[in-house]
Amino acid sequence: MGEGGSRVTFTGSESPCASTGSFRFSRPAGYSYTAGQYFRLTLETREGPQTKSFSHCDAPGDAETLVLTRLTGSAFKDALLALRPGDLVTVEGPFGRLVLPAGVDRAAFLVGGVGITPMRSIVRDSVLRGTGLAALVFDGNLDETCVPMRGEFDAWERENPGITFVHVLERPSADWKGERGFITAETVLRHCDPHDGWHWFVSGPPAMVDPMGRVLEALGVDREHSSFESFAGYE
Ligand SMILES: Cc1cc2nc3c(=O)[nH]c(=O)nc-3n(C[C@H](O)[C@H](O)[C@H](O)COP(=O)(O)OP(=O)(O)OC[C@H]3O[C@@H](n4cnc5c(N)ncnc54)[C@H](O)[C@@H]3O)c2cc1C
Repeated sequence: MGEGGSRVTFTGSESPCASTGSFRFSRPAGYSYTAGQYFRLTLETREGPQTKSFSHCDAPGDAETLVLTRLTGSAFKDALLALRPGDLVTVEGPFGRLVLPAGVDRAAFLVGGVGITPMRSIVRDSVLRGTGLAALVFDGNLDETCVPMRGEFDAWERENPGITFVHVLERPSADWKGERGFITAETVLRHCDPHDGWHWFVSGPPAMVDPMGRVLEALGVDREHSSFESFAGYE
């Protein structure tokens, strides 16, 4: 990618659930990255040009780059919402080391909300390429109405025996049969032996990453078997 980034085209957006948006962009010419990495996006906002980092929510095999983000009312997010198909924006990348380490074939994730982005990139990459990665995803969200991309995750689970999603809902409806509250060490232990060959990934806003780091610590998972990406910029 050229010095100062590449110009790419905004192609469209969706709203996976309230206060969350997904935004699609064309790929820069000659761009390549590894699933789990991030890039920087520059937009013209009402406060002038601003640049923010976003993990690829897409897989390298996808035709387009996908951003999944929380719509906070900030100048940057309002500029994202104001984009019209065909508009040009600037991207720069790839960056980051939140990727599947060589030789790892069992990946476990403690994620939630928009923190699912690197997980979706890594697991989708495996599904598209048929690598047979075993994936165990603890996905924390508020309630059933807002589990971004759940339809796709359910389909992966049905079609790939090695992929399991554990949805953990903070305030589910009365008839929810799954996990409730926050993801804790006890939640994890109900579903796996954390030392059974898993490499652990934690990603998302600091308010998610910090407590999930403590969960791994309580489980005795060491740095060699875990990778972290904190979405600095969120409180
Ligand atoms: C490596 C990396 C990867 C990242 N990947 C992602 C990703 O995949 N998806 C993603 O969404 N972000 C990601 N981020 C964070 C992203 O770069 C932004 O910092 C983040 O989205 C917040 O931007 P903002 O414009 O909403 O908030 P800012 O304007 O920067 O505000 C900072 C804080 O204030 C809050 N805030 C802002 N405006 C309001 C308002 N009106 N009301 C209430 N609260 C408000 C925001 O939630 C945030 O907590 C990543 C960051 C890093 C470093």
